[in-house]
Amino acid sequence: MTAQLIDGKAIAANLRQHIAQRVAERRQQNLRAPGLAVILVGSDPASQVYVSHKRKDCEEVGFHSVAHDLPAETSQQALQDLIDQLNNDPAIDGILVQLPLPAHLDASQLLERIRPDKDVDGFHPFNIGRLAQRIPLLRPCTPKGIMTLLESTGVDLHGQHAVIVGASNIVGRPMALELLLAGCTVTVTHRFTKDLPGHLASADIVVVAAGKPGLVKGEWIKPGAIVIDVGINRQADGKLVGDVIFDTAAERAGWITPVPGGVGPMTRACLLENTLYAAEQLHS
Ligand code: NAD
Repeated sequence: MTAQLIDGKAIAANLRQHIAQRVAERRQQNLRAPGLAVILVGSDPASQVYVSHKRKDCEEVGFHSVAHDLPAETSQQALQDLIDQLNNDPAIDGILVQLPLPAHLDASQLLERIRPDKDVDGFHPFNIGRLAQRIPLLRPCTPKGIMTLLESTGVDLHGQHAVIVGASNIVGRPMALELLLAGCTVTVTHRFTKDLPGHLASADIVVVAAGKPGLVKGEWIKPGAIVIDVGINRQADGKLVGDVIFDTAAERAGWITPVPGGVGPMTRACLLENTLYAAEQLHS
């Protein structure tokens, strides 16, 4: 392996430590702890794991954490009422609705119901619009965490050609906005893209979020490129793998994130960062 590993786990631990320190300072000043409410509907096993991690993170940094675990048959109206109640709760700085929601629920309508200044996932059209207009407020966690990982390499991002694989609302699209803001030239590829290897051949930065194990081959990576693998795919043997073939990509890349231990821990840490930001800058 010639690439340097971008250790998301260590960078996230460092960020959590800073957040915990800031929370302790707030408590010493008799300021309240930042509050995060996490809403989980149904019993999807992956969602249960994600939510338990988020709650554990809150405990670790000293946040006030509120859990709403609701049955799968919860109605749209009941969720809307809960969001309204949390929107008006002065102890709550951030509201997170764990996705995906059961099929009978309208996720977009519920996400838009969250007050934009409590939208710590950064998915509300207001927050996406602010990012698009270069005046970000609460920024989507995964792309924000990836920007921290890119900054950790020390590489000047201005003028770099960044190629994103995947164009979802939660990763690919806001990632493109973050990289544009950082001065990159950005190409967004998706399932209809005709020549993915051709685009990647000129990529100084590659961010892959397709949810397709092994989609990006090591030979497609430009020598020296920074490779960020967002994909989380569980194999039949239970092992987690990304969307990039790690071993061969690491022979060509300059920097690369592992799966697990790369983007995932940063996404979680950025949720805490956003909640602290909301408490300090938006609700003080
Ligand atoms: P999604 O299914 O909503 O979007 C996938 C995107 O990939 C689509 O835009 C699609 O057009 C594109 N795509 C599919 N096949 C392609 C191909 N052959 N070439 C180019 N593009 C292609 O997925 P998502 O929610 O954005 O998640 C993507 C992956 O990232 C999943 O594995 C998910 O688990 C993971 N993820 C990880 C984190 C984290 O914190 N690490 C956060 C969010 C998502």
